[in-house]
Amino acid sequence: MLAIRLMSSKDFFQKIVSLCKRRGFVYPGSEIYGGLANTWDFGPLGVQLKKNIKDLWWRRFVESRHDIVGIDSGILMNPRVWEASGHVAGFTDPLVECKKCRKRFRADHLMENTGQKEKCQEEGCGGALTEPRNFNLMFQTHIGPTEEKGNEAYLRPETAQGSFTNFKNILDSTRVKIPFGIAQIGKAFRNEITPGNFIFRVLEFEQMEIEYFIRHGEWERTFETWQKEMSEWLEYIGIKKENYAIREHDASELSHYSKRTIDFEYNFLFGTKELYGLAYRTNFDLTNHAKYSGVELLYTDPQTGEKFIPHCIEPTFGVERTVLAILCDAYTEEEDRIVLKLDSKVAPIKVAVFPLLRNKPELVKKAREIFDALRVRFACDFDDNGNVGKRYRRQDEIGTPYCVTVDFQTLDDDTVTVRDRDTMAQERVLIKDLKDFFNEKLTPKLVCHSISVEE
Ligand code: ATP
Repeated sequence: MLAIRLMSSKDFFQKIVSLCKRRGFVYPGSEIYGGLANTWDFGPLGVQLKKNIKDLWWRRFVESRHDIVGIDSGILMNPRVWEASGHVAGFTDPLVECKKCRKRFRADHLMENTGQKEKCQEEGCGGALTEPRNFNLMFQTHIGPTEEKGNEAYLRPETAQGSFTNFKNILDSTRVKIPFGIAQIGKAFRNEITPGNFIFRVLEFEQMEIEYFIRHGEWERTFETWQKEMSEWLEYIGIKKENYAIREHDASELSHYSKRTIDFEYNFLFGTKELYGLAYRTNFDLTNHAKYSGVELLYTDPQTGEKFIPHCIEPTFGVERTVLAILCDAYTEEEDRIVLKLDSKVAPIKVAVFPLLRNKPELVKKAREIFDALRVRFACDFDDNGNVGKRYRRQDEIGTPYCVTVDFQTLDDDTVTVRDRDTMAQERVLIKDLKDFFNEKLTPKLVCHSISVEE
């Protein structure tokens, strides 16, 4: 099969955006009101894809490990949290505005993209830009019926702080021992200066983050371990190695809390950009929260009684960017079909069941029975619309790994045709063996980490 990848990357990207809308992965937000720029809603297939990613992540990094516990902290937190974390003073991007067309840019992005920051990059404008001023990315709101000073609150710009503020609760209510991590998946909000590129940079997104607590002397080794873990995760969800690379932050780029940061950068067709980050946050956050809250945030070594503030390594994964990377990686055009070559673990629909003809009740009945039996275990679709060729194309386009067709031979020998999305090869399988067949093909292999846990 000749894979056609001759089109420009930008064209491919546009095709992915349009497929997402057409097939119910991602819709523009508030569309019937003319939309709201850079907001997106996930449709039936998109929400399932996202859920699969989050479930796999949780299973891999929380449930299957001894050393990581999960939490779900609030989006709204005491505003002092954001003072302590440095976000009120330092969570800013440098904003410049064109004096002619009034368009706004991030000064650091202009430098990255064009090597100069003096002129407006809007086509045909070239106007002079204002001096950069720092713009805080946190969305502010007010708690209570009036918008008074003193009742401001922020929508969290990262989930991490909820893990730091619950550090003591975790120590007091669980049996964790260093090294250990606190993981969470949840919404974060950023008032980005230049959102865009579909779901790449949005105002509201989900993060999957781990704050991994260690002794100071362990940071370099733990950082390497997490770098490996993150690469293995990418492989696990089917991202090709050649499409991403690791980039080290130089000193000028490091966030206020970080001593070392690397980005996992993915080739997103519109450019190579950050997919995930891995940061050594030192003991900055716990130290500051202890200072601002007046509560001791110390860990006591159970053997020696030594008390200390642990250091922290933070692997962080954006859910929307994972969805986008998966779609860019999987989107393939072949001679006569578009196919999303999704890893079956993330595919929203695992098996589609068809009766060969919709006007033959005996075929429809059998197909319905198979559908009902399989959907107890797997996300399935039933389709009797149009001819089988068209149904295959529809399922290929949304990445369904297997299609099952009930035909006239089924009525004789109780076998069905199982068709593989990628090879398009077909084989006959006994109906009674279908569950085992798909269990074998579709059950994710779990990696159990051999982390030694001192009891
Ligand atoms: P960028 O440099 O692209 O602005 P960042 O370095 O500010 O990203 P982090 O603060 O490290 O991002 O956030 C952790 C993760 O959250 C990122 O690696 C990314 O996957 C995701 N993320 C951050 N900002 C956004 C956004 N505006 N839209 C979607 N995902 C985001």
